[in-house]
This record gives sequence, structure tokens and C-alpha cells, in this order.
Amino acid sequence: MLDILIKNSLVIDGAGKSVFKADVGVTEGRIAVVAAEVELEAKRTIQAQGLHLAPGFIDPHTHSDLTLLVDPQAQSKIRQGVTTEVVGNCGFSPAPLAGAAVAETRAEAKTFGIDVTWTSMAEYMAQLRDPGTALNVAPLVGHNTVRGSVLGYDDVQPTPEQQADMERLVAEAMEQGARGFSTGLFYPPGFYAQTKEVIGLARAAARYGGIYASHIRSESDHVLEAVAEAIEIGERAEAQVEIAHLKVHGHRNWGDIDRLLALLDETRSRGAEVGCDQYPYAASSTWLMALLPYWAQTGGARAIAERLRDPDMRARLKQDQEENRVEWDNRSGPPTWNDILITDCAPRPDVLGKSIAEIAEAEGKEPLEATFDLIVVSEGQAAAVFFDQLEENVRVLMRHPLVVIGSDGYSLSPRGVLGQRNPHPRSYGTFPRVLGRYVREEKVLSLEEAVKKMTSITAERFGLSNRGVIRAGAWADLVLFDAQTVADRATFTDPHQYPEGIPYVVVNGVIVIDQGQHTHALPGRVL
Ligand SMILES: [Zn+2]
Repeated sequence: MLDILIKNSLVIDGAGKSVFKADVGVTEGRIAVVAAEVELEAKRTIQAQGLHLAPGFIDPHTHSDLTLLVDPQAQSKIRQGVTTEVVGNCGFSPAPLAGAAVAETRAEAKTFGIDVTWTSMAEYMAQLRDPGTALNVAPLVGHNTVRGSVLGYDDVQPTPEQQADMERLVAEAMEQGARGFSTGLFYPPGFYAQTKEVIGLARAAARYGGIYASHIRSESDHVLEAVAEAIEIGERAEAQVEIAHLKVHGHRNWGDIDRLLALLDETRSRGAEVGCDQYPYAASSTWLMALLPYWAQTGGARAIAERLRDPDMRARLKQDQEENRVEWDNRSGPPTWNDILITDCAPRPDVLGKSIAEIAEAEGKEPLEATFDLIVVSEGQAAAVFFDQLEENVRVLMRHPLVVIGSDGYSLSPRGVLGQRNPHPRSYGTFPRVLGRYVREEKVLSLEEAVKKMTSITAERFGLSNRGVIRAGAWADLVLFDAQTVADRATFTDPHQYPEGIPYVVVNGVIVIDQGQHTHALPGRVL
């Protein structure tokens, strides 16, 4: 007796085989049979005529570490067909916590109404396991958290003992089940680290088979050097590399795309273990304080906000922004104030969805002053969307064989505390947007290629065995979608919108989305 029998679906196996019609049977969490005609009895039969059946999508780049504790139903992700999320990205993991990282993590957790009751990776994972999650979760251990734990948030270099302490924290997290090590070399305190520090830490993870996933040092003026650094770190640490949310920021850098593609081609032909992921939008999203030069981002979020109360500091920052000479991934400037939209600023709900140019004009301030004021009032927690990429570059990168799909978003819900922000729509729309806009409408990828970039390639890179493929014996993480109608509905002004055309999602053999409705099942595992 099967648990589930899916009849007459158009199977996309995730490994790249052409679509074929088949029945798929599921039992005890796994795919039991894939055949032209399955006549076995099943507790539940789904008639899937006209629907495509793919392996559940694997999102290699998310920040749902805390939001899954708020709402384990993972509404915004599971409804896209995502059955596994990799968390702990961009150097930010909720564990291990020590020293200054405790207060920093508590401040962020407080914005979600969460008490931080854990310190180790194992204790954090226990929080995920009870009560469980709708989808599978694969955690990374983050450099910023580890560095903050040992060195704090200032511009300092580790002594050999401190380097060893950091390596020990990474190794412990790996022993407790982390999948790899992530950096956010664009964020404090990660950007103070020299390459050799990161190599040591990536090696500590690689000894356990861990991946090195990086938000690289620059995605704008120095993107090529930053990609080269990530590749070097992986080679010297002997780690598989994942370059996160690959893109080229800023009008003045758009032309670098050809050199970037050439670098990726060269890396691929050398057989280096390097991959990249991308979200299908020409706009990015991060904290507003990322607009500040590195020297102004020391000491943690509260210290940064405090610094901006000082008029002398503001004058110095204004000069740095105009001259663009200090060390920093400068994404601010006069042509872009219209292109920066505020998405999160709890004490100022009136500014959500407005551009900095609009806010500055309404308040009779210069844009930079308005930016500083929002960072101060939110104690550094204000976030924004930046419309500064070229759409054609999004398409060109999507086609590259090294590039897979990842959201860089969160598991969210329109209800409760998770619905109170105005997030980037990628949290709700990434995977259906690729299938609808870039496959069906623009034909940037074939359906099989797109699904492969959402499943088997990612599973292989992150060492998720028996996932990301449809074949007998693999875990039954599955999504049924309508290739004619699948589409994202979330927009920048109305982001909390579920996609359409995805009626069924199965995680570890349990139906979580059933005819478009969440069953409240929590069958996900910590992988
Ligand atoms: Zn990032």
C-alpha cells in the first residue's frame, strides 16, 4: 500500500532528462516507484493530468534562521514549491553565540519577538526540531557570528590564539551538523577579515565536507576581484564554493558583465568546484546602513546608530560619499536616491515603500541626512530595496551553467509579525517567477534546465544526498505545478502575495500544500 500515488503527471526528474509522462508512488517518506503505469493501492491518489511533477525546489540562499522559529509553516517558501532551505547565509547564523555576538543576535531576534535561549548550533537546531518545520532546513555557520563572538565588531585582526578559537567554533558547529561555512565580507565585522583568516575558517569546515558560501566583498566597483577572492579561498581551503546572489550593482559597473562571464567560464573549464546562485530580480535588498563606509560600520548596530547622531561624523560621511575614495562598496550617490526604497523601519511605518528621494523631499532634508535619520531611529535595523541592476544582466547570468536559483529571502507569512514588513518580493516569488517569466514568457531557459537549477545541481553542491531528483529511493520532496499558469504575484509595493499555479507540495512524503491550501503539517527535517 502506497501513501501517495500521483497519476499521469509530466515528470521533470531534476537531473536534466526530457519531460516524460509517468505515475509516481510514495511510501514511508521516499519515492517508491516511477513508472508509466502504477496500479498499486494508495491511501491518497492525486490525479495530476496536465501538471508537471518536479523534485521539491532547494533554496541554497535564505535568511530564515529566525523566521522559521516565529512561524515554522514557512508559508512564503513552501507555496513556491521550496522543500529545503539553506539558512545561515551571508555570514549571519544564529549560532554559535559568545561575547559581543550575543547582544547583536538578541537585538535582531527582538525585532521578530524572539528570545534567544540557545548558544550552540546544536541548541539552535533543537529549536527547529521542536515543533518542527514545514520544509527541510540545512544550516550554515556564519563568519560574522563567529568573528563577533571572538573579536567583537571592531576593526581588528585576530591573534593566532583568536584565529584558533574561531576555527574551533566553526569545527564544533560542523560536528553538531552544520552543512558548511558562510561569509558576508560586505558586512561588518566580516569586511575587516583578511583572506587568510577566511581560508583558515573555510578549511575548518571543509574538513567535515562543508561548503564555503560567500556574499563576496563587492558586488559593484570590485566585483571581479571579489569573485576571484572567493575562488581562491575555496581552492586553498579545499572547499566547494557557492558565490551568493551573483549580480553587478550600479550603472557604472554594468559593463563588467562580460569580464565576469569570462571569469566564470575559465573557472568552469578548469573544473574548479565553484558555483553561484542568483535571484530573478534586477533589484537587491539589505540593511540601510550598508550604505555607510566601513569605518562607520564598526561596533555593532547600536554603535553605528549612535555615531550618526554626531554632526561631525555626518559631515565626514558626506565627504566620503561625494569623493568615493575610502575603502567601501559604495552603492550610494545622487543618481540612486530614487532607486532606494525603504522596506523595514519599525519606528517609522509611514516611510515603508517610499524612496529616499521622496522621504527627503517630504522632510525638507538632503537624501543622505534622511538616510542617516532612518538608521538612527531604527537603531540600525532599517532595510531597503535597491533598484540598480541591468535586467539583461539578470538573464545572461541565469543562462550560465554555474548559476542556480536561490532567493536570498525569508520564510514569511502575510500574518503576524512576519507580515508587518514590506520585504523584497523574492521571499514569495523567486521560483515561480523563474518558471513563469523566464521560462514560459521569455524562454531564457527550458523547463528542464530551470528545474535542474532549482534541484539536483544545488543538492549536489550542498551534499544533500537523495534529494533534488525524482527516482525510486530518493526522498519524496515533490512539487506539482501548472506550467501554463505558474507565476509570481508578489511585487515591490505588494510583496505578501502567494504565487499561483502550484497546487501540491510534498515534503518527506507528507502533503504540505494540498489543492493550494497549507495542511499545517511540519514534516521537515534538519539536514
Ligand atoms: Zn547576502
